[in-house]
Amino acid sequence: MEYDVVVVGWGSAGTAAAVTAHDQGARVLILEKMAKGGGNSSICGGNIIVPKGKEFLEYLDTLSFKTTDREILEAFVNEALQNGDWIRQMGADIQVFRPLEVAYPTMIAGAGFPHVKGAENVVKYNIKGTPEEGKPSQRLWKFLSGLVAKRGIQVLTSTPARELVPNERGEIVGVIAEREGKAIAIKARRGVILTCGGYENDPWLKWDYLPVKPLSFLGTPANTGDGIRMAQKIGADLWHMTRLACLIGFKAPEFEASFWVAFLSEGFFFVDKYGRRFVNEAGIEIHEYYRELSHFDMEKMEYPRVPLWAIFDEQTRKRGPLSRGTAGYNRDLYNWSLDNSAEIAKGWIQQGKTVGELASKISVDPKVLEKTLARYNQLCKSGKDEDFGRPREDLRPLEAPFYAIQLWPSLINTQGGPRRDKEARILDPDGKPIPRLYAAGELGSIWGFLYQGACNIGEALVFGRIAGKNAAAEKPWS
Ligand SMILES: Cc1cc2nc3c(=O)[nH]c(=O)nc-3n(C[C@H](O)[C@H](O)[C@H](O)COP(=O)(O)OP(=O)(O)OC[C@H]3O[C@@H](n4cnc5c(N)ncnc54)[C@H](O)[C@@H]3O)c2cc1C
Repeated sequence: MEYDVVVVGWGSAGTAAAVTAHDQGARVLILEKMAKGGGNSSICGGNIIVPKGKEFLEYLDTLSFKTTDREILEAFVNEALQNGDWIRQMGADIQVFRPLEVAYPTMIAGAGFPHVKGAENVVKYNIKGTPEEGKPSQRLWKFLSGLVAKRGIQVLTSTPARELVPNERGEIVGVIAEREGKAIAIKARRGVILTCGGYENDPWLKWDYLPVKPLSFLGTPANTGDGIRMAQKIGADLWHMTRLACLIGFKAPEFEASFWVAFLSEGFFFVDKYGRRFVNEAGIEIHEYYRELSHFDMEKMEYPRVPLWAIFDEQTRKRGPLSRGTAGYNRDLYNWSLDNSAEIAKGWIQQGKTVGELASKISVDPKVLEKTLARYNQLCKSGKDEDFGRPREDLRPLEAPFYAIQLWPSLINTQGGPRRDKEARILDPDGKPIPRLYAAGELGSIWGFLYQGACNIGEALVFGRIAGKNAAAEKPWS
């Protein structure tokens, strides 16, 4: 098999790369590990960054904490400014993201770090459409997969890439993939683009790079760090390996991924394994739960906040499903009941007429949980959370009956992988590009410290386009 450009992984980065290379005249093949494409891109929140102006760079420079060269951030900003135009040129349109008014974690339309210079440039969009036309990421994937179909770009599904093939000059000239149990060799005359996601579902890499254990995931089980290993084998440098975006989720044993959990009412608080409150629950940036939960107790040699418990009351139970099914791998596998009653019946949510009864059910010392609740309710009544600074408007005393759900830090992705430059070329440890090898998307993303929401899809589209353009422009080696 012979193509100009081989794209490994069919999510948003793979689509942007394949479509751009195709539109430059290249013959493109997409290899996809799963029976269908989409990856995290098809089950995400669907938010896409289109910054207001170039000052967005100052914001990102602060967030990156010098983990990503400014020239790479600059390349990202310049191209991200075009995200809306690109989507329109490709035949769809965008609309501004409108978050729920009351939800914890708070979903915000703007910057995750509003006090940082340049934050006013953050605007999140999604693909224009109504809820009847699908959830935002369903609309996104319908649009992206449609671009591939319309062009007749060949996709081999259920065909994971296994190895990159270098020639004697170190140029990447092909890929070995696995199809129906057999190895197949595919020549890439111009270049190979890796867009096969992070390692959020690889137990070994997680164990090694991410101290908090265990770490569950909300997205596709397919992203197991294959691109990292393939790139390492041919001498790529790695970067941002310890960075990630992490929410909280409920893990049912019969489901591979966690359910993303959010509370639609103020009537809840978090406690650690021992029933102690530890944080302003309303103040955690939505992607940064990992930092909050990563406290390690040296005396006990454990992470006391993993898992944590959310304690809530009847009003919160009735306000809406704890897992709304907007995003996540389980979205299409299970319908969470509107009043959470089915999940109580399943034992996923524990119930107690008194807080003492609830504590016994979740193996927490009743005296500790009773004390925590009494203190929390007292702080709510006084309107001032002297312990953790939760704002007055986010405080409401809890009333019996009480409920508890066990929560785990749950990755939406990992950000690390092969180091790349502003041209999306994968670099070796000396900073030299590995010829004809490119990457885009969450595999070795540019997010090296704090992450701004909506920037993963935004970046997948940006570096997908850059990689596709540059790979298609390579001179064929044969
Ligand atoms: C619940 C949730 C909500 C999110 N919300 C947002 C949001 O609103 N905005 C935002 O910007 N980001 C969001 N994210 C993050 C974002 O979805 C991802 O970072 C982004 O989709 C990554 O795109 P990608 O193309 O790099 O990878 P993916 O879309 O994950 O695609 C990678 C593809 O590679 C395939 N693959 C893996 N290994 C191989 C192999 N060996 N060979 C061939 N194929 C392979 C996978 O099957 C997959 O199809 C969210 C993620 C989740 C899980």
